Amino acid sequence: MSSHSILASSRIAVLGYGSQGRAHALNLRDSGLDVVVGLRPNGPTSHKAKADGFTVLEPAEAVRGADLVAVLTPDMVQPALYREAIEPNIKSGAALLFAHGFNVHFGQINPRSDIDVILVAPKGPGALVRTEYERGRGVPCIWAVHQDASGQAEAKTKAYADGIGGGRAMIIKTDFKEETETDLFGEQAVLCGGASELVIAGFETLVEAGYQPEIAYYEVMHELKLIVDLFYEGGLSKMLDFVSETAQYGDYVSGPRVVDAGVKARMKDVLTDIQDGTFARNWTAEYAAGLPNYKRLKQADLDHPIEQVGAKLRARMPWLQPNTAPAAVAPL
Ligand code: NAD
Ligand code: MG
Ligand code: MG
Ligand code: MG
Ligand code: MG
Repeated sequence: MSSHSILASSRIAVLGYGSQGRAHALNLRDSGLDVVVGLRPNGPTSHKAKADGFTVLEPAEAVRGADLVAVLTPDMVQPALYREAIEPNIKSGAALLFAHGFNVHFGQINPRSDIDVILVAPKGPGALVRTEYERGRGVPCIWAVHQDASGQAEAKTKAYADGIGGGRAMIIKTDFKEETETDLFGEQAVLCGGASELVIAGFETLVEAGYQPEIAYYEVMHELKLIVDLFYEGGLSKMLDFVSETAQYGDYVSGPRVVDAGVKARMKDVLTDIQDGTFARNWTAEYAAGLPNYKRLKQADLDHPIEQVGAKLRARMPWLQPNTAPAAVAPL
């Protein structure tokens, strides 16, 4: 990164050293920037940050000397982290950076008016943000400015995106509202919620009709990866190029029978709950109550028959366990 970057003589504190935190910290450092990591002293990732050669400080101490503070802890711990470690310590005119706008957009964090509040969200998991950077490339990022106290918030945001490698690929301007609402909608309606319910409904349909659960698992869960990889690499066109004519015809006539106008209407309901704050209110209350529904619903997923049959079948596909020697696989 060029030495005339606006962050060239800045100290950057990265709070959190998980998926995003580790990738950001390593890439920023390799871009020539001054990075310290802020973590709870005996937290689970502090040994990792030290092994990677970082100075690891308590969050409050890391914030104290920093010109830019990147908040890369889980979203639900950020409000307390802000109150306890950031708000009392962050320098006037410094920048507070997020990778997801949830807490600022929904008012769980109300940042001091004398700091910049910015967002850089790579469109990929942390591991890819790191490996692409190491290859001399980058993962596209979306960026936003929520509050510009220094008059330089946009330049700092773009410099940070450059520092993690996003500038080598593409950066797209957004705002905290768009990033937060689309991120929540995607994971709820399509990626996590939608896809898992579609798979489970397909599995149950086949098993209830008397087909073997093992065969059902392969057809509706295992093979989903092949299709998603084609989407990822080349969209609908590549998927349609690679599947048979029979599969295509079935897609055209049966897909819309399953995912019909009612599904889209309910997607709009989900989006409304996100936009009007209902989801954020419910999730914040659920977290504060100790996650009773979250734990119950998660356990129900874990106890679903597709999980038993899946574990048995995956144990016979050693390429799915890169760290497991084939000899360690138990006989069926
Ligand atoms: P993570 O769960 O992988 O890592 C969290 C880190 O925070 C860990 O190092 C953990 O030890 C630390 N931590 C937890 N509680 C803490 C506390 N109280 N004080 C200090 N450190 C604490 O998190 P992640 O998935 O990297 O997510 C970080 C942010 O990035 C979130 O805002 C998330 O929405 C956003 N984001 C994540 C991804 C992704 O691919 N995972 C993509 C885009 C944006
Ligand atoms: Mg997302
Ligand atoms: Mg998300
Ligand atoms: Mg589910
Ligand atoms: Mg088939």
